Amino acid sequence: MSATAAIATRHDWSLAEVRALFEQPFNDLLFQAQSVHRQHFDPNRVQVSTLLSIKTGACPEDCKYCPQSGHYNTGLDKEKLMEVQKVLEAAAEAKAIGSTRFCMGAAWKHPSAKDMPYVLEMVKGVKKLGLETCMTLGRLDQEQTQALAEAGLDYYNHNLDTSPEFYGNIITTRTYGERLQTLAYVREAGMKICSGGILGMGESVDDRAGLLIQLANLPEHPESVPINMLVKVKGTPLAEEKDVDPFDFIRTLAVARIMMPKSHVRLSAGREQMNEQMQALAFMAGANSIFYGEKLLTTANPQADKDMALFKRLGIKPEEREEHADEVHQAAIEQALVEQRDSKLFYNAASA
Ligand code: SF4
Repeated sequence: MSATAAIATRHDWSLAEVRALFEQPFNDLLFQAQSVHRQHFDPNRVQVSTLLSIKTGACPEDCKYCPQSGHYNTGLDKEKLMEVQKVLEAAAEAKAIGSTRFCMGAAWKHPSAKDMPYVLEMVKGVKKLGLETCMTLGRLDQEQTQALAEAGLDYYNHNLDTSPEFYGNIITTRTYGERLQTLAYVREAGMKICSGGILGMGESVDDRAGLLIQLANLPEHPESVPINMLVKVKGTPLAEEKDVDPFDFIRTLAVARIMMPKSHVRLSAGREQMNEQMQALAFMAGANSIFYGEKLLTTANPQADKDMALFKRLGIKPEEREEHADEVHQAAIEQALVEQRDSKLFYNAASA
């Protein structure tokens, strides 16, 4: 198959196929990913979300990467569930600086019956401000999922983190099966899914492939696929892990783009550790979503104005709300295809 041929949306990826994608020469992989990207998206638009921690720390789960786990001593200031009004003020600020989606994260194993009414009020209030809403609250039962959908929640974030085989090395307080069950409830309730993983936890390339296979072989691809680079926090068991090779990180973004051509691939946690050149390469590999704002849950996120300055230098514009995949303007796609055909860079890569 030529690198520019259209790739159908598939749900039957095998490990051998995904390994072969990872093993391609870097330029060939990036060319293929960028070609797929241009078939579905305006290549110069990036979706921008803001993330707010609405309940911080003391989480009963033992995710080895997470400073919010109550199992590790990271010196994190714990905070109870925020007041609804404060959340709405933060959402209004996020909208004012250009975010189109507001993600609210709570460090829970699962939401309690006592907390649900507040959470539902947050969803309704943020929605009224004209923002897309996203939440990450841990495991959900069917009733809670339905209530969130009825309140107007657009996205539910529930990461698979890594491959099923490697999962037990990272988390022992829940199972992969439980994660998949919550994702199934979210789909049944008609909400969109945000689900991805983390690189740099000591996993193998096959584990990275295994994670992407789990996501891409779901009955529907997650609309949003965050690919995180481990942020090593002192006090967590993964604080001394080896750095991920930046090119391996970019490769994973590119493979995710090829396997889930219509999903937003999000350059997520760890962006603070990436220089501008690496971020530009990530956009080239098909990443088209970022978190924006001062904090990414509890770890620093590059300043919003720095992001906008980089966008300007790269000729990237923030994506308008709901302007994605099937809804993206046809004219923009056509323009992108013309640019792709005419681009010297692509000509060179294709001839290599
Ligand atoms: S990643 Fe989420 S579930 Fe795991 S410890 Fe952190 S807050 Fe809890």
